[in-house]
Amino acid sequence: MLQKDNLINILYIDLSQKKYWIEKRSDLFEKYLGGVGVAIQILKEECSVGIDPLAPENPIILAVGPLTGLFPLASKTVALFKSPHTGNLGESHCGGRSAIALRLTGYGAIVIKGASTSPIYLAIHNGQVYFRDASALWGMTSSYTVGRIIRQNEPATGLRTIMRIGGAGEKLISYAGVTTETYRHFGRLGLGAVFGSKKLKGIVISGKHSIPLLDKQQYRKIYDHIYKEAVSSPVMKKYHDLGTAENTSPLNELGGLPTRNLQTARFEGVKNISGENLAEGYLGRRLACAHCPVGCIHIAALREPYEDELYFYKTSMISYDYEPIYALGSMLGIAKPEGLLKLIDQIEKVGLDAMSTGVILAWATEAQEKKIISEKETGGIQFSWGDYITYIKAVQFILEQPNQFFKDLSQGVEYAAQKYGGYEFALSFSGNEMAGYHTGPAAHIGFLVGTRHSHLDNAGYSIDQKVLTQQRVKPEALAKMILEEEYWRQILSSLVICFFARGIYTPEVCLEALHNAGYDLSKEELINKGKEIHLEKYRFKVQEGFSLDNYRLPERIFDTPSLIGKIEKDYLKKVIEAVKSEIFSEQKDKKNFELK
Ligand code: SF4
Repeated sequence: MLQKDNLINILYIDLSQKKYWIEKRSDLFEKYLGGVGVAIQILKEECSVGIDPLAPENPIILAVGPLTGLFPLASKTVALFKSPHTGNLGESHCGGRSAIALRLTGYGAIVIKGASTSPIYLAIHNGQVYFRDASALWGMTSSYTVGRIIRQNEPATGLRTIMRIGGAGEKLISYAGVTTETYRHFGRLGLGAVFGSKKLKGIVISGKHSIPLLDKQQYRKIYDHIYKEAVSSPVMKKYHDLGTAENTSPLNELGGLPTRNLQTARFEGVKNISGENLAEGYLGRRLACAHCPVGCIHIAALREPYEDELYFYKTSMISYDYEPIYALGSMLGIAKPEGLLKLIDQIEKVGLDAMSTGVILAWATEAQEKKIISEKETGGIQFSWGDYITYIKAVQFILEQPNQFFKDLSQGVEYAAQKYGGYEFALSFSGNEMAGYHTGPAAHIGFLVGTRHSHLDNAGYSIDQKVLTQQRVKPEALAKMILEEEYWRQILSSLVICFFARGIYTPEVCLEALHNAGYDLSKEELINKGKEIHLEKYRFKVQEGFSLDNYRLPERIFDTPSLIGKIEKDYLKKVIEAVKSEIFSEQKDKKNFELK
């Protein structure tokens, strides 16, 4: 069955030679399903050891899975690359229309290699690739404008996605993202800079291929079950009503909302930037990724009068959710919703990762307060908590890099703190800036040991809240919980399911859905695949120099009490040791896996 499905077709594009070809890789899709499982194998094949992430040899792999286009909420595309931000595995997931358009154009994955000598964008329509001149788009800093122009230039039939970079990607800022459909992103770990290094301004993909079904009756049954759960379960309703912004107030109340560079975990201005307040005062519309009945994307309408014109207003539509609210709101002490939205808008325009940018600006503010840096470095900027106008200016400076200090900020907080000091309050884990959860040890350990250093790797924050608030857990047991969750998420990332639907896509549901895509597996086989894929990702990380032996944990996480109280350093160390021995214990070829 899989042989007949166009999922097994991988489109290879060489930007240096301006040519493309297709390879049938049923070997990869049969063994590793799709998404991250297949992409990590391609990354291993295509990415030589130790290459510069901004060199032409760094491939970009975009992959979808066997359920994409068939079932609701299988709406994400996985991007894999070597990260210019951490120097090891780059992995980012994005929704919008990206996944369905990619599947309907006739491919399970796209591999982009080489680099163009002049700016281009790629147009992939119904499987054909066109190399378009993007000289006129190069230098446009706003990802909004770039998207609008490509949309007008590319009449297409079928479902269409437009991925593009703003000025940050062109400037090779290590935490530049790629925007799709204006409000969705491959946000973390610097895919935008990899695009920029290839002079690739964007990719438009459209398609209208169909996908074969094995058993129509069984398909209807499992489809209806998933759909019903998606539209009626209370968990999904939360995503529709307030979106992830709903988390802001409860996290604050419990004492887990990082505030002013995590000097505290409660924010006095939380009410103004809460999901409830943003919905009541600003919500303009909700959107959904393609093939998702939930619609969790919340868009604020910000109306501002023009200065000299009476009754003339500019209305900006700005997407918000919990992560930018934390990183650009509480973390920077911004309590004014208009200020927060304007800052989000600015970061969105230039195409930076909101979380990394917020954490970097928070470090700079504290560093200036502590006189580690002065206006001499900042070029006259005086950072101050809550001063969103200055932060907007600073974002522009990160983009333009008028002096060495802003050049350094464009490489991330780890880099800046190494150079200027303030390491103890530089909130990065393995080179990636922290997410918005100071809930307890599991959140921070999960972030450190996760394969992409994201809160989504293993949801340690959830283990803190559900388990550690109730009982003390032995280090080995906590390590197991973190890893078990991460193993399972490799399956969801291979299928590629939106993590918000993880409660719906249980192993049993996945197996039934997979049956219709031509896979007949036992539960044990499916779960083992997750473990195997996780190991493959770790193998790549270790190959690129990642080690769990010489990690750094910012002192700040131990100073500020978390949701479950003060975090004990010794306990954390023991859990990390347990994670390490768990990951590597079953290795047959231990030699290749020796941690440095
Ligand atoms: S729940 Fe939200 S992020 Fe997930 S697929 Fe639906 S709209 Fe996209």
